Amino acid sequence: MAITEVRSGELAIHGGEPVRGADDPIPLVFPRAIAPAAKENVARLLDSGFTLDMIGEYERAFARAMGTKHAVALSNCTDALHAVLAAVGVGPGDEVIASPITDYGSVKGIFVQGAKAVFPDVDVRTGLITAKEIAKVITPRTKAIIAVHMYGHVCDMDPIVELARKHDVLLIEDVCQAPFATYGTRTAGTIGDVGCYSFEAEKHISTDHGGMAITDDGDLARAIRYIAHDRGARPAERGTRVHETIGHAFRYGHLEAAVGLAQLPAVPEQNRKRVELAKRLSAKLEEIDGITPPFVPSNTSHVHWLYHFRIATEAFRVDTGEFIDALNAEGLRCGPAMYYLIPYSHTFMEDREAILESLPNAREHLSNTVRWPWTDKYSDADIEDMAAIVAKVAGAYRN
Ligand SMILES: *Cc1c(COP(=O)(O)O)cnc(C)c1O
Repeated sequence: MAITEVRSGELAIHGGEPVRGADDPIPLVFPRAIAPAAKENVARLLDSGFTLDMIGEYERAFARAMGTKHAVALSNCTDALHAVLAAVGVGPGDEVIASPITDYGSVKGIFVQGAKAVFPDVDVRTGLITAKEIAKVITPRTKAIIAVHMYGHVCDMDPIVELARKHDVLLIEDVCQAPFATYGTRTAGTIGDVGCYSFEAEKHISTDHGGMAITDDGDLARAIRYIAHDRGARPAERGTRVHETIGHAFRYGHLEAAVGLAQLPAVPEQNRKRVELAKRLSAKLEEIDGITPPFVPSNTSHVHWLYHFRIATEAFRVDTGEFIDALNAEGLRCGPAMYYLIPYSHTFMEDREAILESLPNAREHLSNTVRWPWTDKYSDADIEDMAAIVAKVAGAYRN
């Protein structure tokens, strides 16, 4: 039905001419543009012989940028989330509710602390957890909720905050894919009790690797530093220390913080571009029968770490995997999303089958979803060509 479908020739996967040839595919996130000040900051730090407190400077800049009182830099977000659970003493016999559609990093801490991971189902349109689904699985043993702003899309937080307060449960936001995303007038990561971020190379704020926990709660910030930086030790007389508990070495690095200081200020403008480009692609995909671009309610922002769309498989002659192979052959490097379903891809989990069974919306949302890492570097032609590629494959495989 879209005009672009008319010019669809034979699919590249069947020997036709690709929309974007192998020498000029749709660009990936790498190579990334690194803010020029990163080099100066790193040089200053090295010239100082490691006497500049880049971590402290980055923590203060990060807290200011997000509008929170405290920011604690950590080795990565996997460890940041783990540090939060360890800091509040989550352990055996406790339950932690987490979004079932996410990265391993969201849940590692639950498993290592020996607590039980509990997965509510999601809103089938967004793939995000909701208060309605959390309410079905919350128990007196629930100690924390990890709400993941998956893809870059903020969960509907007001009802989740209300539910967490009612049950006196710590509300953690996993903001790895959604830094500076908004929910009404508020910023993701500042709505619950604590927000955790990743600076992994492919994430919005890349410092190669790293993480941050932000909170307004001074006691929580101190407890995170104690367990994750001080390794559970207190200073003692004459510069010695006493290890009171089993702590962790989840410290960030000054070199990476030097890069982060330069990268951070650029993110809001990069997000503005990311969102605008994604909206343009979504408007085009909306026109293609059987293709559903991401659903974004008007009060939340979606800052697109990933772009994703759903395929109505009954409209086409092929399954989602074959559809994805054809997209790749045309020059759009993308993949399936199913492995983001934790009990699906984490084969070490006990009761995996039963948990999968209890998540029909999550399975449906992911089973026909295509995704790829998004970037602000796309040109107008890249957006046009992405839409042309999807239209060409849809046209060729339409029932
Ligand atoms: C990337 C990511 C993590 C893990 O972050 P690291 O810094 O790589 O440990 C956790 N949760 C989500 C949603 C992520 O996207």
